[in-house]
Amino acid sequence: MQYNKLGKTDLNLSKLSYGASPLGGVFRNISEADGIRTVHTALDLGINHIDVSPYYGDTVAETVLGKALKTVSRDRFILSTKAGRYGSEFADFDFSAKRINASLEESLARLGVDGVDILYLHDIEFGDLNQVFEEAIPCLQALKAQGKIRYFGVTGYPVKIFEETVKHFDIDCILTYCRYALHDTALTKLIPILDSKGVGIINASPTGMGLLTERGAPSWHPGNKELLAASAKAVKLCQEHGVDVTEVALQFAIDHPSIVSTLVGTANPLNIEKNVKWAEKKPDPVLVEKLRALFANVDCTWPSGHATNQD
Ligand code: NAD
Repeated sequence: MQYNKLGKTDLNLSKLSYGASPLGGVFRNISEADGIRTVHTALDLGINHIDVSPYYGDTVAETVLGKALKTVSRDRFILSTKAGRYGSEFADFDFSAKRINASLEESLARLGVDGVDILYLHDIEFGDLNQVFEEAIPCLQALKAQGKIRYFGVTGYPVKIFEETVKHFDIDCILTYCRYALHDTALTKLIPILDSKGVGIINASPTGMGLLTERGAPSWHPGNKELLAASAKAVKLCQEHGVDVTEVALQFAIDHPSIVSTLVGTANPLNIEKNVKWAEKKPDPVLVEKLRALFANVDCTWPSGHATNQD
C-alpha cells in the first residue's frame, strides 16, 4: 500500500481508504458481522484511514464502526467524521457552533474514541455559506486550538464551494465525491488551486456511489437517466473485456498524483480485498479511453444544495 502526506498535516494516509457509509446500510441491508469484518480486513491489508459521518444510516454507521474499532489499537487508524448534516432535507442541516460541538461529542461516544484526526463540515452547499464561514469554520478552528480535533476540512459536491472556502480560510483538507471518477473529472479544475495552498485532497466515491458496479446504482442515486444508461453501457463494455468495471473505476480514480487518498465504501470483506489488490495496478489506458467516451456527451452532474452554491 502506498501512503501519501495529507497537505500540510503530519498525517500519512493510505492511497486507498475505507469509507464507512455502507456500515449504515446506505446501499443495501448489511450484516453487521460482515461490516465489522470488512473494517478489520481493510486495516489488516494496510488501509489506515477511515471516514464516517453521523448522517450515514442515521448514526448506525458510526455505531457499527465503533464496535469494529473496539478491538483495534488507536494508533492503527486515522479517523475522520463530520458534523452539520443529519438527513436529506434542508431542515436536517445545522452548521451552528452549538450543534457542531454537541455532534462531535456524540460521534466520539458512538465511535468509542477520545478524539478524531479530522472533523469535516458535511456537505456545506446545503448550508448558508455565511453561517458556515462566520460560525462553523471558526468553531472548527477553536476545536483544533483546544486539541479536540487534530485537523479540519469541508465536504461537498459542487466544486465551487471549495474554491470559495479556500479563498477565505486556511483549511487542512477537503473531501469531495463523484468528481474524479470515470464519469466526471470536474475536480481537476480545482486541483491547482488546492495544491497551491497546500490543502489535502480526499476523493470519495470512485464508483460514483455505485454507478460503476455490477450491482448498479441504488434507487436513491441522484444521477439522471442518461448517466444511469451510460453507466450500464460501461458495465457491459467491461464485461466484454473480461474485467470488472469497479476495478477500472477504482484504478482510474486513484491514479492522480494530487489526490492523497480515495475513499471506497463496502460492507463486504471480499470486496475490500479485491479493492486493495486492484489499487496496486494502473488501469488499461485504452479501456479507460473507451469508458470515458461513453460519458463524453452526457450530463454527469446533479444539483446538490442551495441553487446559489451550484457550479
Ligand atoms: P463508492 O463509489 O465507494 O461506492 C460504494 C458502492 O460500491 C457500494 O455499493 C459497494 O458495495 C460497491 N463496491 C465497493 N467495492 C466493490 C467491489 N470490489 N465490487 C463491487 N462493488 C463494490 O461510494 P461511497 O461509498 O458513497 O463513497 C465512499 C466513501 O466516501 C463513503 O463511504 C464516505 O465515507 C465517503 N463519502 C463522503 C461524502 C461526503 O462527505 N459528502 C459523499 C460520498 C462519499
